[in-house]
Amino acid sequence: MDSYTLPYTFSQRAQQLTSSTIREILKVTERPEIISFAGGLPAPDGFPVDVINQAYDTVLANSGRSALQYGPTEGYAPLRAWVAEDLKRVGASVDADEVLIVSGSQQALDMLGKLFIDPGSKVLVEAPSYLGAIQSFSLFEPSYQAVPTDDGGLIPAGLTNDVAAGARFIYVLPNFQNPTGLTLSLERRQALVERCAALQVPIIEDDPYGDLRYAGTAQPGLLGLGRAVGATVIRLGSFSKVLAPGLRLGYIVAPRPIISKLVQIKQATDLHTATLTQMAVYETVKTGFLTEHLPKVRDIYKAQCGYMLDAMDEHFPATVSWTRPEGGMFIWVTLPSHIDGTELLARAIARNVAFVPGAPFFAGAHPQTNTLRLSFVTVPEARIREGIAILGALIKES
Ligand code: PMP
Repeated sequence: MDSYTLPYTFSQRAQQLTSSTIREILKVTERPEIISFAGGLPAPDGFPVDVINQAYDTVLANSGRSALQYGPTEGYAPLRAWVAEDLKRVGASVDADEVLIVSGSQQALDMLGKLFIDPGSKVLVEAPSYLGAIQSFSLFEPSYQAVPTDDGGLIPAGLTNDVAAGARFIYVLPNFQNPTGLTLSLERRQALVERCAALQVPIIEDDPYGDLRYAGTAQPGLLGLGRAVGATVIRLGSFSKVLAPGLRLGYIVAPRPIISKLVQIKQATDLHTATLTQMAVYETVKTGFLTEHLPKVRDIYKAQCGYMLDAMDEHFPATVSWTRPEGGMFIWVTLPSHIDGTELLARAIARNVAFVPGAPFFAGAHPQTNTLRLSFVTVPEARIREGIAILGALIKES
């Protein structure tokens, strides 16, 4: 309905929001007969329900009153210290007061939008990039500038003086990128942080999937590499993929002046992240639970990814190319240039298969409409094979 016919007026910010056509099409994916490769949900088989149940019991039994009380905006101190210590694994040395606990890294994206973006501010994103970040940033009306990518991910040399001039930040997903599944090589990471240090462009490193590596060799995070060369790096982490997304728990690591401003922003947003959740997650992870848990999650993802790649090798024609992720949840498909992903989706839905077309993932760039994202983690093997066979047949018909 046109808001002008309503007896109230939404802000211009709210008025510019539109419900995407793809979201409307994908509503049908909730029907049980649909084989959906569209979702971004982690595999529920990987949720450690009993361990989390026990952690909540322990916290409520031993520290119930403080767990149910308001807490500091910065977050629960032992959890901040645990995160700081844990980041040594990705090659970063940080202090606990450089860590801010947030209600999922999606909240971090919103807070960073509030911190850095004025209407028209230049924001650098990979083409393609995470749709949820584009949605968060777009509320603050930036002007997107795409940084070119190839089959190795973001191209640091694409960050020319012209491209970077005046940019408030660059938003980068170095591991198993959403949506492409691609991972940046060490050389590109190094080149990127050096370039950003020279250009004085802060880097937002979003890494929710880094711990879900099931092939290849782990690379150091941009945070440690960047600090070594004087780049400003803001790192986002999340417990959504390593424990469970329903916890809504994540964190931001940044230099202290940025943390102080973000604390003011978070205070205005929600005072602080749920105390009980922070304490229960700390209780869960403090004795090294993730070291035994993550291999199980990686095994699930590796097997699921293998089923899909195997089915694609069998059923997709040679004119189609796709990424082979070393971790995470997504495969990115490039179709022959005459096939439009959104048009293919309409035909796929008619055959009870769904995926996300690639075009909406491109902000500030000419969208590559002959692309799509497949998620493999929540669909059983037989359904993956069935769905991929149907997609293969539809592509061949095009
Ligand atoms: N960043 C990326 C790249 C994601 O894929 C997601 C979740 N799909 C998020 C951030 C948000 O994660 P959460 O809020 O659950 O931590």
